[in-house]
Amino acid sequence: MTQQTSAVSESSSNTNVNTAVNTQVNNTNQGSSEVRHNWQADQVKALFDMPFNDLMFKAQVIHRENFNPNEVQVSTLLSIKTGACPEDCKYCSQSARYKTDIDKERLMEVSKVLEAAQAAKDQGSTRFCMGAGWRNPKARDMPSVVEMVKGVKALGLETCMTLGMLSAEQADELQGAGLDYYNHNLDTSPEHYNQIITTRTFQDRLDTLSNVRSSGMKVCSGGIVGLGEESKDRASLLAQLANLSPQPESVPINMLVKIEGTPLSDVADLDHFEFVRCIAVARIMMPKSHVRLSAGRDAMNEQMQALCFLAGANSIFYGCKLLTTGNPEANKDMMLFNRLGINTETIASSAADEAKITTAVVDQKNSDLFYNAVN
Ligand code: SF4
Repeated sequence: MTQQTSAVSESSSNTNVNTAVNTQVNNTNQGSSEVRHNWQADQVKALFDMPFNDLMFKAQVIHRENFNPNEVQVSTLLSIKTGACPEDCKYCSQSARYKTDIDKERLMEVSKVLEAAQAAKDQGSTRFCMGAGWRNPKARDMPSVVEMVKGVKALGLETCMTLGMLSAEQADELQGAGLDYYNHNLDTSPEHYNQIITTRTFQDRLDTLSNVRSSGMKVCSGGIVGLGEESKDRASLLAQLANLSPQPESVPINMLVKIEGTPLSDVADLDHFEFVRCIAVARIMMPKSHVRLSAGRDAMNEQMQALCFLAGANSIFYGCKLLTTGNPEANKDMMLFNRLGINTETIASSAADEAKITTAVVDQKNSDLFYNAVN
């Protein structure tokens, strides 16, 4: 064989290999952006089992079909009531059952929440999430949280709350006040659930999500990985989320932050590549949802975060405690975005949204912004 024919033959064999690989990848991409609600455990497992590069490629293709790949949505999370929670979530520093060094705080005053929301907006956040460590909001809490929603909305921010379980009536009331999103995570798989929480059932969580959806609010729901669960639990959690119909608009994927004093403080670390796989699989299964790189980001280096964005994560939280102290973390995030050529997503406001904001502004002018929620 001459050198030339050898080269031709080698080139032709490379073409064959490339064609075979492309066909394989294309096959795995068929119907890629289709939103499905019938995921089976073995199908999700097959995604997790893909070679890492193939999985990342597939996730990135789907990401590009549905989103600007160089845009990330930025939310700020503020704890409006911290600690003393009666629930027993084994990962949580706010549970009253565990000895953690968290500073307990009663429900914040509305005016303080609005100050934090303004600061978040000034730093580029488009969504302001308010979280309270409650089993569920009590009737006496509702007037304050409603005022918070109206006030944050009036600033032109998207609003999100996470207050625990919600009744249908409470969901309707919050939606009426202008709440855009309600966060309620499934946390883990139904199979692993009892190892993590015993004070509310998996079905309780689904019921809250159903109330939120029925009220017309958008759903933010995800889970936590690294809770000592098995790989099949991570697959099962993602199947539960993807099989919700409609799928959650926002899907936070959290990496456990181990807190001294909680029962999970010394659980084994989850392999970082497994976490990236979770992001990629979530992106593939929920192609139209924002997948949020949430808790645990502090423990990830910049390369790991970049890999998560490549896998399809397109939403992050800024920390809240640093809001009033210059928030160096936020600056660090912006520096990383600059280096990666990532822009922050802006809110596409419709005429209907503008009308809602105007109404909220008028309502605020007629209400007592300085309602003292502590009394
Ligand atoms: S309900 Fe929320 S605040 Fe309460 S222990 Fe569970 S995770 Fe923590």
